[in-house]
Amino acid sequence: MSTFLGLPTAPRGVGHLRGSEPFPAAARKALADSQLRRNLGQATSTIRAKRAAVVAELPDWEELRNAGQAIKADTMRHLDRYLEQLEAQVSARGGTVHWARDATEANQIVADLILAAGSKEAVKVKSLATDEIGLNDALAAAGITAHETDLAELIIQLGHDRPSHILVPAIHRNRAEIREIFLREMGDADPALTDEPAALAEAARLHLRRKFLSARVGISGANFAVAETGTLCVLESEGNGRMCLTLPQTLITVMGIEKVIPSWADLEVFLQLLPRSSTGERMNPYTTMWTGVTPGDGPQRFHLVLLDNGRTATLASPEGRSALHCIRCSACMNVCPVYERTGGHAYGSVYPGPIGAVLSPQLTGVEDNASLPYASSLCGACYDACPVKIDIPSLLVDLRARHVEESRAARGVLRVPGVPSPEAVTMAAASWVMADPRRFAAAQRAGRAGRALGRGGRIRSLPPPLSAWTRARDLPVPPARTFRQWWRDSGRDPA
Ligand code: SF4
Repeated sequence: MSTFLGLPTAPRGVGHLRGSEPFPAAARKALADSQLRRNLGQATSTIRAKRAAVVAELPDWEELRNAGQAIKADTMRHLDRYLEQLEAQVSARGGTVHWARDATEANQIVADLILAAGSKEAVKVKSLATDEIGLNDALAAAGITAHETDLAELIIQLGHDRPSHILVPAIHRNRAEIREIFLREMGDADPALTDEPAALAEAARLHLRRKFLSARVGISGANFAVAETGTLCVLESEGNGRMCLTLPQTLITVMGIEKVIPSWADLEVFLQLLPRSSTGERMNPYTTMWTGVTPGDGPQRFHLVLLDNGRTATLASPEGRSALHCIRCSACMNVCPVYERTGGHAYGSVYPGPIGAVLSPQLTGVEDNASLPYASSLCGACYDACPVKIDIPSLLVDLRARHVEESRAARGVLRVPGVPSPEAVTMAAASWVMADPRRFAAAQRAGRAGRALGRGGRIRSLPPPLSAWTRARDLPVPPARTFRQWWRDSGRDPA
């Protein structure tokens, strides 16, 4: 532990965050899927409305957000101290703490622990940290089967699919699709299964019950870890988490190091912020907390794997470190106009949406997710919704600047000295035009020639080099009169 957080940077993961294709290409495919857009639109608008209603009930919502932000900032400033305190408390209560610098180390630790428990399978609570490190695949390579028990994660696992939302991983699936997956993959599903939600939930319940009762090992993530007592906390809605956390004899929790909080008083703040922001509930149905091992009650062996995987490197960035404040509520996704239209798969990252666009490039390096900081209209809705007030738009702008600098540095090796880049030429030309009213007016007149390219009020394709702009978006047709002409014609111009 002594050198763990002393590292100036941390070894990166094994690439599970990296998308298979850049966001613009993946988004274009997603936008062409009308069923996906319908599913996403319905799900996000429902969650948005629920969240807005329960948030409006609290007169001190803004004070709670401020408190959440302040607690997280303090925790990040003293992260080494709180983690050592957490380790000491968990150890004193009979648990064992392991430190993993990256995905490979974390996966190895978990596989070894499962095999040491004499098992070849484990039941799992939904956990983004284990998705981030690709735990299920790593366990499969070691001959161990991990059974997802969260209903949505079960749908993803049976459908050989990828999660598309951090809270509702199967948000892109409708109930007819889920019925078809269950009938095809479950093995023990009733052939007369309907697509009624209650029938689908019952099929999953029956399928999972045997696994819960026979599992010797449970695997979880953690929403919070209280440093002062060594208490871990998992919030969930279905009760599957409670089963995983209490029935097996061995419990392994994989937790990102940023999830620690100093005290129980701090937990009170987050237990108000998180359910309202995520599922739009005053309180989530199941909140399970445990501290070490209690003889004769619950798991008799508890292992806590503390995962770095790029977090200390992110912490070292004064601008970017606030992304580590995230409590994974998903509110920013549900309000994001880009996410609502493309869904999570287009981001090619375990963490999609606005938070994914700032977290993934930092965890894996900007170049690995270079297109993500541009996957935003910078409208600011994510900042307004975030319960811990992460200024995502500013982080996105900062990451864009870093990407431009890194690209410039890389290109500098190949560029002819003294020859400016195309962006530099474009910006210099725009600056020259805008610096003089007559030049600007002339440019507006020239722009009106673009009206000939429009159809139905939109320009869908511009000639090169401007075609790069219209490849991913269209433009409104320039108005017949400029603002200046309209102003003059209206008689308001004293000149
Ligand atoms: S960035 Fe904020 S709104 Fe988005 S998931 Fe994290 S805590 Fe929630």
